[in-house]
Amino acid sequence: PAQRVASFDQDVWSIFTPLAAETKAINLGQGFMNFGPPEAVQNAAKEALDRVEANQYSHPRGRPRLRNALAASYSPEFGRQLDPETNIIVSAGANNAMFATFAGFLDEGSEVIVMEPFFDQYISNITMNGGKPVYVPLRAPANAATQNISSSEWHLDIDELRSKVTSRTKMIVLNTPHNPIGKVFSEDELRAIGKVAEDHDLIILTDEVYDRLYYPPLQKFPRIAALDGFWERTLTVGSGGKSFASTGWRVGWLIGPEHLIKYALAAQTRVVFSVNSPCQEAIAAGLEVSLTEPLFQDQVDNYLQKRTRLSKVFDDLGLPYTCPQGAYYILVNTAKIRYPADYKFPDILDQRGDDFKMCYWLTKEIGVCSIPPSEFYTKEHWTLAKDFARFAFCKTDDVLDQAVERLRELK
Ligand code: GLN
Repeated sequence: PAQRVASFDQDVWSIFTPLAAETKAINLGQGFMNFGPPEAVQNAAKEALDRVEANQYSHPRGRPRLRNALAASYSPEFGRQLDPETNIIVSAGANNAMFATFAGFLDEGSEVIVMEPFFDQYISNITMNGGKPVYVPLRAPANAATQNISSSEWHLDIDELRSKVTSRTKMIVLNTPHNPIGKVFSEDELRAIGKVAEDHDLIILTDEVYDRLYYPPLQKFPRIAALDGFWERTLTVGSGGKSFASTGWRVGWLIGPEHLIKYALAAQTRVVFSVNSPCQEAIAAGLEVSLTEPLFQDQVDNYLQKRTRLSKVFDDLGLPYTCPQGAYYILVNTAKIRYPADYKFPDILDQRGDDFKMCYWLTKEIGVCSIPPSEFYTKEHWTLAKDFARFAFCKTDDVLDQAVERLRELK
């Protein structure tokens, strides 16, 4: 194998998603929905299949209907008129948008600053493109081990961020709402991060795939690309899968100024050429509906109710957690849970953080699957995640209720 892939471990998704299926556990692991896209979106996909032209290649930039819908939906979000021809490209999932950006801007040895914990795909996407991830921590407050906290309390030290910049730094990766923490960065935090990028002439790549899922009391989702002239150095990633319960369709996008978008497009065209056409039509239809109907607001109301439905059991069990401001994950402190000291774990878990064992045991013996967050840390920092498990609540109420019932056995 190539050196660039030879060192990749088996990823957390390919361990826990099959494990949940085999053990018939309630799967609150990988963040996918157990319900389908809104009806209008499903119908639009079916209609698209009946149109000959919608079954053929799309323009590498993405289908005009989708780019127009994205421009209509996102122009008010960014406080500027987006040009569907130059400011937007459609990608094969948000992941492809990130990969294309790294491919478009990194040379061998280019450094990319990534906040830790990080969504795991960033790292391999950076290294496969010759880049080097450089980490800066998001720290939980000291009381997080004993009481519930808000994701807003996870803290980035701006001086520490600045100290990571070298002459090789190309880019800062931001993720808001953050996976797995659920943190939504405030305008002040974004301004401070943007200032570091500006002072050192760095690109900001911001992964905002959960941008439509943020909870009261937040009234507005702050976007770094809409602040202080940072637009010129920012590429924003979005996701049809997260916004329209269609994670398997792999429709995402990248929004930014033409002088940055064009290099991501150059790379993206050479990787996937273009994105699956019928699903682009359907996501366009969803965005069109959202312009006149409160689709996203209804979704937020629904998810907020789910957040409470699941988090209540952790309150009852006295397991402290981070209450997420956005996205659909709850990071729970599992330190109080004990599994039998002589419990037999499979060998593959020996090379992993201790949280893998806890999540494995919870899946097999309690029947609820979660994700061990050490996957989102560098190996040196696995111990920071040892007492945590990430539970996803993007599930129907009956499934959440069953999970709650099973988790109550831990009492
Ligand atoms: N984003 C999803 C999660 O964090 C799944 C991503 C993946 O499977 N690569 O659960």
